[in-house]
Amino acid sequence: MAQPTQSASDEQILHAARLILGASYPIALTGAGMSVESGIPPFRGPGGLWTKYGEPPMNGYQIFLADPKKAWEDRIRRQNDELWGPLKVAKPNSGHAALAELEAIGTLRFLITQNVDDLHRQAGHQALAEIHGNWKLIRCIECGARFASGEISVEKLPPECPRCEGVLKSDTVSFGEPIPTDVLNACMEHAARSDLVIVAGTSATVYPAAGFALEVKQRGGILIEANLYESEITPICDVSLRGPTGEVLPRLTATVSELRKTKLS
Ligand SMILES: [Zn+2]
Repeated sequence: MAQPTQSASDEQILHAARLILGASYPIALTGAGMSVESGIPPFRGPGGLWTKYGEPPMNGYQIFLADPKKAWEDRIRRQNDELWGPLKVAKPNSGHAALAELEAIGTLRFLITQNVDDLHRQAGHQALAEIHGNWKLIRCIECGARFASGEISVEKLPPECPRCEGVLKSDTVSFGEPIPTDVLNACMEHAARSDLVIVAGTSATVYPAAGFALEVKQRGGILIEANLYESEITPICDVSLRGPTGEVLPRLTATVSELRKTKLS
């Protein structure tokens, strides 16, 4: 993997901020890099959980469907392992806060995240799609309703949907499981309207998430990358802001806010 290079310059940040203010429908696509800065280990890459322990089965969803009771028992048993432990204590970092603020001032219109850690919500983000689900939620595989984990009793496994009595599953999307239709539709709808994507903490190579950024680019839109490392999409980005997202995104949001004030006054 490429070594981190020095942090984005003020000129690059200013350039990116101007592009964002010139766009009509900026959205963001975020990934594991943002979670890592909150202490959550990544799946892939050096030190990744899958690198250490091997990839989970590619047919995880089919395994779940074959025996939901056993899948739930496994889930409950794993609650304190190396992934779940950090998820429970992780807090949003300044990068999450910066994107939430960019939304709050009316600039960022939508956020697509590949992260399941709930940290964008905890930072106050409102309009978002968690394309791989949210580890704190339980979803009905029949009617698609979502529930907070605490609302669902696991005395009887698998738990039943309070609305339709369907089988409940973690909202996190397993290998082999289709992305829930409501989430996919929201992503497609917002990507179709977008003319600028801030790609933060992800190399944007995992589909379908990557496709939304590429689609905007192919239509002549702008890609702004915020990433510690050079990535596979760096060559097609209009601006690459190198550095931790927790450092680069707050600078970007501050500059956008500043320029907006100047424009409004
Ligand atoms: Zn249901």
